[in-house]
Amino acid sequence: MRITFHGAARQVTGSAHLLEIGRHKILLDCGLYDSDRSDPNGPNRNFTFDPRSLDAVIVSHAHNDHIGRIPCLVRAGYRGPIYVTRATADITSVMLRDSARIQREDLRNGSLKAAGAEPLEPLFELTDVEWVVEQFKRLPYDEPAEILEGVTLTYKDAGHILGSGIVQLDYVEDGRPRRFVFTGDLGRRNMGLLPDPTPIQDIDILVSESTYGNKELEPYDKLIKQLHAIVARAIRLQSRVIIPAFSLGRTQRMVYCLQELFAVHKVRPIPVYVDSPLALRLTDIHREFPEAYTPDARRLMDKDPRYFGSKYVEFCETWDDSRRLNYQPGPMVIIASSGMCDAGRIRHHLKHAVADPDNAIVIVSYQAEKTLGRKIAEGVERIQIMDQWHELNAAVYVLDGFSGHADRNDLAWWYAQSGGKIDKAFLVHGETESLEALKSVLQPHVESPVIIPDRLDSYEV
Ligand SMILES: [Zn+2]
Repeated sequence: MRITFHGAARQVTGSAHLLEIGRHKILLDCGLYDSDRSDPNGPNRNFTFDPRSLDAVIVSHAHNDHIGRIPCLVRAGYRGPIYVTRATADITSVMLRDSARIQREDLRNGSLKAAGAEPLEPLFELTDVEWVVEQFKRLPYDEPAEILEGVTLTYKDAGHILGSGIVQLDYVEDGRPRRFVFTGDLGRRNMGLLPDPTPIQDIDILVSESTYGNKELEPYDKLIKQLHAIVARAIRLQSRVIIPAFSLGRTQRMVYCLQELFAVHKVRPIPVYVDSPLALRLTDIHREFPEAYTPDARRLMDKDPRYFGSKYVEFCETWDDSRRLNYQPGPMVIIASSGMCDAGRIRHHLKHAVADPDNAIVIVSYQAEKTLGRKIAEGVERIQIMDQWHELNAAVYVLDGFSGHADRNDLAWWYAQSGGKIDKAFLVHGETESLEALKSVLQPHVESPVIIPDRLDSYEV
């Protein structure tokens, strides 16, 4: 087998890995890069392989850095199957339609335009997305499917977000059975809502994510205690708790945690507003897969048929719903996107909340450099929101343990489950520090030196 790394190599976005098994070409993921979409020479607008030569596309999960360029494959002439888990199919349909809509808006307001240049076309249109949806081949977890002659795909639950899968491919090469495993993104262990990532034995070739390879995150019970204290403070001060969160995954997790606080830990319930129409649509999908959650989560769900949205949780659909919150007295929790505060309705809520020391901002996910979220997490004195400067007086809490990514200990545990030694292993989807730190964790489980590939590096394995 030959593997070539076309994305997420020494960085966390643009996931895309090309496998050549015999005469078959298989693409794992086709994610969006976190770089300027208006750059005509940028990686989002140019493929480093021929999409028409592919025989199959396998998707690990529905985050944009893993799915965001699949419609571009179709636009470039790919007409083959796209393998997904059932929940990933539903979520990806919503995510890509939303992305097409945003790109249309960007085109209209001129932001798809490099300085001095003609506006670029969107990366893809709604019609491309509809074509993608038609090509979906939905697979359940744990059921092997022969997707190409002699190549069997099995999805294992990765516990990262709803529908997330570890990709296991079994095939025969030179007369011997081989097992290739791509972790996609692995979830944390013991996080309440989603199950732990599924262990896999007898791996010959491994491609592993490395997002938090250099970090140990706080355990769930400690995070819940901290969240409890923040809610209690808001009740005491009659104030606001603002939580920037991505509409997919983190929003549902935070709603779950707050409901757990109210239902299990007997904290006095306060209103929780989820201000994101996209999160509303994605949460509806979350309600359709009760079998995806842990027994504890399902026990909570059995008590509340409107799970992920009990009587204390309200979703704001319109701008009016959103604006109304500005005039409403606390205590309350507002969850809104974007998760890094650079776009979306969260900026309006921050604008109204940051100057008051009684309010709290809770950072629950990774904040990239230079984003507004990063500046808030670092506790700067003043922040700029939509051209206006504001004093940052609100209390800031960084609880990144709510992340959907396995930390160093979770990854070490998962590698140890493999049993025998892995032949060859590659680390992707991480910044340099994480990749280097994780290398020493993985190495004892691997026969040959662990490799950190650069973009377009190619290996015969
Ligand atoms: Zn992810």
